[in-house]
Amino acid sequence: MIQKVLIANRGEIALRIVRACREMGIKTLAVYSEADVQSLHVQLADEAICIGGNKSADSYLRADRIISAAEIADVDAIHPGYGFLSENAKFAEQCESCNIKFIGPKSKSIKMMGDKSVAKDTVRKAGVPTVPGSDGPVETEAEAVKVARKIGYPVIIKAVAGGGGRGMRIAHNDVSFAKEYHVARGEAEKAFSNGAVYIEKYIEKPRHIEFQILADSHGKTVHLGERDCSVQRRHQKLIEESPSPFLLQHSDLRKKMGKAAIRAAEAAEYENAGTIEFLVDAKGNYYFIEMNTRIQVEHPVTEEVTGIDLIKQQLRIANGEKLDFDQGDIKFEKHAIECRINAEDPARNFAPSPGTIGLYYAPGGLGVRVDSHAYSGYTIPPYYDSMIGKLICFGPTRKVALERAYRALSEYLVRGIKTTIPLHRAIMADPLFIEGKATTAYMEDFLGRTAADLFS
Ligand code: ADP
Repeated sequence: MIQKVLIANRGEIALRIVRACREMGIKTLAVYSEADVQSLHVQLADEAICIGGNKSADSYLRADRIISAAEIADVDAIHPGYGFLSENAKFAEQCESCNIKFIGPKSKSIKMMGDKSVAKDTVRKAGVPTVPGSDGPVETEAEAVKVARKIGYPVIIKAVAGGGGRGMRIAHNDVSFAKEYHVARGEAEKAFSNGAVYIEKYIEKPRHIEFQILADSHGKTVHLGERDCSVQRRHQKLIEESPSPFLLQHSDLRKKMGKAAIRAAEAAEYENAGTIEFLVDAKGNYYFIEMNTRIQVEHPVTEEVTGIDLIKQQLRIANGEKLDFDQGDIKFEKHAIECRINAEDPARNFAPSPGTIGLYYAPGGLGVRVDSHAYSGYTIPPYYDSMIGKLICFGPTRKVALERAYRALSEYLVRGIKTTIPLHRAIMADPLFIEGKATTAYMEDFLGRTAADLFS
């Protein structure tokens, strides 16, 4: 049984894991970089070990140091959170070979789903619709153009090893393709040390709808409903909600997609928590795009809708326990929405805004949850992700959840730095968003028609 967990992460997710472990009577070990001495996860964990310098490459990405820390502190499991080493099959393998439980899927599944074109192939064989595209990576520019013409423009060029919206470019004709193909390869090489790309039909104005999966090591796989993550900027999510406003109108489609998500996870021989991501067009056609083999930033909306603590489920599954509920037992009784609070200036093209927070006051009250590692006097280091917290609001209906979000955003005070709070407040008041009409094209349109001083 897991007695002590090393948390190979930082920020709000590290704190989230500390909290779940504490409620389960499991001890926690925080690891941290020199820049994170003041971080709440370091202060709240039972023990903490500094693993290196400011840059991720010198600390949170140093598998060797993390495993050494695990051995020194005698932990029996590692929770990778999201980002950093969470989808690194080699790290999961290293943990397995050191007899430390990796709280996540087997390295085999991470590998299978980590290569996006192998992932598509795997789920397609299990009868899950995928976006039309190249069979695997394209090797040369000549081959790539041929494939693009065959698929028909517009197409999207995507990094096989992609993540975080990087290495992804759209082409509308042969001329733009020639340029974007090289840009995508360059970006992919830089971000992932792997320049391989594949090509997909570019679906115009889709919704991004993903399904949360839980699978135990005894062969049971269930889904916990969907999250609509269509509000994105540069392919990065900003707002997530459950249920999806689109699927509220199309419950048959939800059933079909839920079943497809389970088939996809089973095809990956998946264990633990994971997410199957789909794009859905206006006609209700849905296409698998990728699987994330880890906990997601947006997992709280699913927790609030279903009442299931996903981190605790991850720990139980890693312990070899059986899921103690069936698909039919899962109740979807609320609506929840999450706003990502980033230290960025939305009025200045989302320029990073690290620095010291003067006053910090998080909202509360009925239907409000804040997952954040920020506090008054906290200095945000410039080395990592800009997200400083998540505001999750929920209620019996979407209308109530949105009203609570607007109210909570009005209470949320973060002085001394710029944040996305005013932007979220403006979105919560936008008729198009309120009507549930947002697709992945929403943000560009919204920013184009809204005066920037509304967000400053
Ligand atoms: P990453 O792993 O980098 O996050 P994803 O494959 O999950 O990349 O895609 C991220 C976002 O990019 C999607 O939510 C969607 O907005 C956009 N996208 C990806 N593939 C397509 C496509 N074929 N057509 C239209 N948009 C796409």
